[in-house]
Amino acid sequence: MNLLIAEIIVDVSTYHVDRAFDYQVPAEWINVIETGCRVKVPFGARSVLGFVIGLKKETDVPLHKLKPITQILDMEPVLTEEMLQMAGWLKNHTICYEIDALQVMLPSALRAKYEKIIKLQEPQNLPEEVQAIFGKRQQANFKEFERAGLLPLLKQLVAQESVTIDNIVKQQGNVKEIRMVKITEDQHLIEKVIEQSSRAVKQRLLLQWMCQHLGDVLSPQQIYNETGVSSSVLEAVIAKGAAQFIREEVYRDPFTKEVSRTYSLQLTEEQVIALQAITAAMEEPKGQTFLLHGVTGSGKTEIYLQSIQKVLEEGKEAIMLVPEISLTPQMTERFRSRFGEMVAVMHSGLSVGEKYDEWRKIQQGKVKVVVGARSAIFAPFTNIGLIILDEEHESTYKQEDSPRYHARDIAIWRSEFYQCPVILGSATPALESYARAKKGVYTLLSLKRRALHQTLPTVFIADMREELRQGNRSMFSISLIEAMRARLEKKEQMVLFLNRRGYSSFVLCRDCGTVVQCPNCDISLTYHRTTEKLKCHYCGYEEHIPQTCPQCQSDHIRYFGTGTQKVEEEIYKLFPEARVLRMDVDTTRHKGAHEEILQTFGEGQADILLGTQMIAKGLDFPNITLVGVLSADTSLHLPDYRAAERTFQLLTQVSGRAGRHNKPGEVIIQTYTPEHYAIELAKTQDYEPFYEREMFLRRRSSYPPYYFVALVQISHEDVMMAAEYAGRVADWLRGNLSNQAAIIGPTTASIARLQNRYRYQCLIKYKIEPNLISVLQRLLAMYRAEWIKQGILMTVDLDPSTI
Ligand code: ADP
Ligand code: ZN
Ligand code: ZN
Repeated sequence: MNLLIAEIIVDVSTYHVDRAFDYQVPAEWINVIETGCRVKVPFGARSVLGFVIGLKKETDVPLHKLKPITQILDMEPVLTEEMLQMAGWLKNHTICYEIDALQVMLPSALRAKYEKIIKLQEPQNLPEEVQAIFGKRQQANFKEFERAGLLPLLKQLVAQESVTIDNIVKQQGNVKEIRMVKITEDQHLIEKVIEQSSRAVKQRLLLQWMCQHLGDVLSPQQIYNETGVSSSVLEAVIAKGAAQFIREEVYRDPFTKEVSRTYSLQLTEEQVIALQAITAAMEEPKGQTFLLHGVTGSGKTEIYLQSIQKVLEEGKEAIMLVPEISLTPQMTERFRSRFGEMVAVMHSGLSVGEKYDEWRKIQQGKVKVVVGARSAIFAPFTNIGLIILDEEHESTYKQEDSPRYHARDIAIWRSEFYQCPVILGSATPALESYARAKKGVYTLLSLKRRALHQTLPTVFIADMREELRQGNRSMFSISLIEAMRARLEKKEQMVLFLNRRGYSSFVLCRDCGTVVQCPNCDISLTYHRTTEKLKCHYCGYEEHIPQTCPQCQSDHIRYFGTGTQKVEEEIYKLFPEARVLRMDVDTTRHKGAHEEILQTFGEGQADILLGTQMIAKGLDFPNITLVGVLSADTSLHLPDYRAAERTFQLLTQVSGRAGRHNKPGEVIIQTYTPEHYAIELAKTQDYEPFYEREMFLRRRSSYPPYYFVALVQISHEDVMMAAEYAGRVADWLRGNLSNQAAIIGPTTASIARLQNRYRYQCLIKYKIEPNLISVLQRLLAMYRAEWIKQGILMTVDLDPSTI
């Protein structure tokens, strides 16, 4: 008997199914199915999605127990051989379920509901039974082929390119359609309506105009603009039958505007050296990782562009990662203006359908470059020549859900697979990366000067304690106010940066000191002025602002702290004539909002751009000559060993926004702790001394990069349960790991309660611990088999970005 067995990973994330199962391939699909395809299979009483990870002729499963695959979802594999290998590695590297590792590589559209459409490309010489399905149509549904038992034939047609298969995402409720007006093609009809409308002057005007536009499809707005009539006139004419409203689907294009083409710049000496090293590595048959350390404005992006140019000339593909692309429209534009249609873009601002469209372009080889956020590292290219991570130190490259991967690790894995270089670029590399570069694990490339030889901005530290002593209670220091005034007079632009973390407005009772907290989380609620509500940023809980203190009933309850709205108001008090643009979560909720704000600012329609973290990156405007940091301290005091590093990176990053072109820049950093080394060293924007200082401290307290850390977190609704199981974790780790490893804890997590669950953690610090993965896997097995039933939730993170 001709038996074909498929090894399938099913879409069920529980421990006892975290392995491949054997299923029988029905005879008619033997020549259809391929490794990497998605299928539907029976699992228990359910029908679930599965991925074929292998095909074979034999199985240990007794034949009468072997179940058949019930449906094939892909004619061509969605997962390549490389991805299947990568999933296996990811599973061990991050300790996740294999199904999670497979799913993360695919766009969510392939997990969502969709319809498969077969499009006719080449109508000649179609077999009769296929012709019968299409009839006069240009497309048909996959199900029609399936029902007719024509899948093998369909596969041939796909191979011959007579038809193509597309997944059309069923957009739930947000189908992109707009209302258009279609003018009739029938001139007599219009003439008749004109006769009937003898007394309605405006209607006649519109109808006469329509006579010149028979059969046209226009938006109502276009018609109003061209004819000057109002909507009531248009509607009256439509009611008489001279035109009709139709709905037209808008083509999904994530690019909102046209860009003009740019060409390679003449490189500086430093740039030439870096580019040569990278292109030389492209010739070598091995993976190689470069750390491109260049001060802000040193022309790193130009090096990326020219390296990619080289890759394209070789006929290969490139992946360019940016921390969060919806925040850096300028970056996308630079890539599009250089490589045009060759570029796909993937970021969180796109709809499910748009993301799928971009993914599909990559998979079909229609584009050669992808610019995207973290998940774009899984772009389904098959001939990669270069992978780049810009701002490689950013924590957004780490995924905080399973699989807890770091894009940097995936990049390096893929570079070894394709034997191509990786570039990690930053003005302030992660300590780990710089340490690796110093050890020679990565190749260090340095750009010490700005590309246009502009000087780095001068940085001034404003001591806010001193301001307070002198009676200045405002959130602006005297020096910042003066600097702002000077810019307004000179018509130069400025950026004000509010470090948002832990610095949002909260509501506090002046009598008893109570801060209004979330009832579900140990976190104070944030005041939102626009809605007059208090919100929890972790669980979404919201309530109205209390009129009296919930604790002591005093009515001296006020909001405190500084949100961007508050700052905006203060600016208007100081400078009523200033034009302020605010960029924060509230003003950027709708799609394309970032682009709009940045464009408005770029066109000089505002003097001040005020914002949170999201303005720190990528901004490159010639007229910005002042950057103000309203409070440098807030990220400094987080209970995290990376707090100083993050603060230094952030300050350097924002400072880099000033004086990037002809005009010199100035930076004012306000702080209550001017003597802290992260702030002092940010003043000179000199990475090396900061690195040395921070490394010294990391060594002294045994933190990365000297030690590795892994984090196990436990949570439960009952505090006793959480504490007890956290204790068990600690004991178990101590009992099973070598005494080289230090186990810290159990301790409460930095947010001790979240969404009504009490949180504890154990931190493992180690240098060499060969058994770590297997020990943690056994711990997880215990958890999945027993603890989970007690309501415990446990996560293991081998590279926690916060602890
Ligand atoms: P980075 O990515 O290091 O912050 P960019 O690549 O954005 O730096 O470069 C900063 C500015 O200098 C940009 O406006 C860019 O167009 C310009 N620039 C970069 N390289 C060159 C060059 N070789 N010649 C002229 N201008 C350059
Ligand atoms: Zn009170
Ligand atoms: Zn909450």
